[in-house]
Amino acid sequence: MEKEKKNIAILGSTGSIGTQALDVIRANPDTFAVEVLTGHGNADLLIKQALEFNPNTVVIADESKYQYVKDALQPKDIKVFSGNKAIAEVVQMGSVDMVLAAIVGYAGLESTISAIKANKQIALANKETLVVAGALVTQLAKENGVNLYPVDSEHSAIFQCLAGEFHNPIEKIYLTASGGPFRGKDRAFLSSVKKEQALKHPNWDMGAKITIDSASLMNKGLEVIEAKWLFGLATEQIDVIVHPQSIVHSIVQFTDGSMKAQMGLPDMKLPIQYAMAYPDRIKSDFPRFDFMKYPQLTFEPADTKTFRNLALAFEAMNRGGNAACILNAANEIAVEAFLKDKVGFLEMSDIVETSLQKVSFIQNPSYEDYVATDKEVRVMAQEMIKHSAVKK
Ligand code: NDP
Ligand code: MG
Repeated sequence: MEKEKKNIAILGSTGSIGTQALDVIRANPDTFAVEVLTGHGNADLLIKQALEFNPNTVVIADESKYQYVKDALQPKDIKVFSGNKAIAEVVQMGSVDMVLAAIVGYAGLESTISAIKANKQIALANKETLVVAGALVTQLAKENGVNLYPVDSEHSAIFQCLAGEFHNPIEKIYLTASGGPFRGKDRAFLSSVKKEQALKHPNWDMGAKITIDSASLMNKGLEVIEAKWLFGLATEQIDVIVHPQSIVHSIVQFTDGSMKAQMGLPDMKLPIQYAMAYPDRIKSDFPRFDFMKYPQLTFEPADTKTFRNLALAFEAMNRGGNAACILNAANEIAVEAFLKDKVGFLEMSDIVETSLQKVSFIQNPSYEDYVATDKEVRVMAQEMIKHSAVKK
């Protein structure tokens, strides 16, 4: 009997993860079908994708581009909507089996929560969802019997190591970090780096925000918090180890001391495909790892004195409540400003740290509290940026 195709809603289809997910679907047309595509500003790419994959529905988050997309897709029988509210609504359609949450940042929170409430399977790339509201999101997932399949490569690695081991307690996990383009550099060097240098990641080709986060180690900080919620871990159970080759994607240590690692070339298509096809592995033609090209896999500690963001993320995780929501919002504003040359590289951590000190702490936040915290931090962080010493 022919297997039914899995109907996927790709939120953020015009981004780095979104386009790679479409590569996976293009290569596996008998396994997956595209039900929904969403983009924000890149209307032309969204239209092109819709014409190729013929989804049921397309949403363009930027409302000013609605008519443009609507007109382009007029000849096809594709529904077009605009705005983030529409994204949160269309994920609930009965025809959607799985939602790939690949919008970047806090903007992805509402639609992910909405998809969980509608009992959709979630392939989760948007790590900020768990950073901002991990307690709430994982509780909702539990109540609705929804699985969150990690797309982030480190968390996919842990998840793959846990296959067949879900009943065995984890002693510890090691999240690997490439160290980014500034590994080994000191604060004097970092004080004058520009976005062009920070955007050159040695191993991964990703969206701008996560690339800056990788250079500042905030990405690893966000991933530590993401891991806490995905795998139900305490702070002491999560360690970060720098592994510049990005071949070992992360490691689980069990209570007998045995360690399992997942390895492979750095290629996001693999974790994307694993999350979408779970529990199956689909044959792929992705390039294979060659030991002779990597005679040395090396490991070193993370430098949290130079890259303070990682320490700040651990601190926010330990405080709990809305602290990680504060960290995330401040970081989003700081990264945006750095990408516009409005603040220096090291100032990004200052903005995060000051926000953590100043914004009111809430121990048990509701959804509305997270929304209000995010808003408050953004205003405060923008104020700090106005007073930045960086010459405009
Ligand atoms: P990109 O910036 O490449 O893509 C982001 C996507 O989200 C685009 O489709 C963009 O639309 C859309 N988008 C941006 N802002 C909004 C908004 N306000 N409302 C609705 N949609 C919006 O990001 P990545 O693909 O790199 O990352 C996506 C997520 O996956 C992030 O959370 C990231 O941390 C995570 N991730 C990414 C990895 C990677 O390799 N790229 C690896 C691991 C995790 P448009 O482009 O049309 O404006
Ligand atoms: Mg990652």
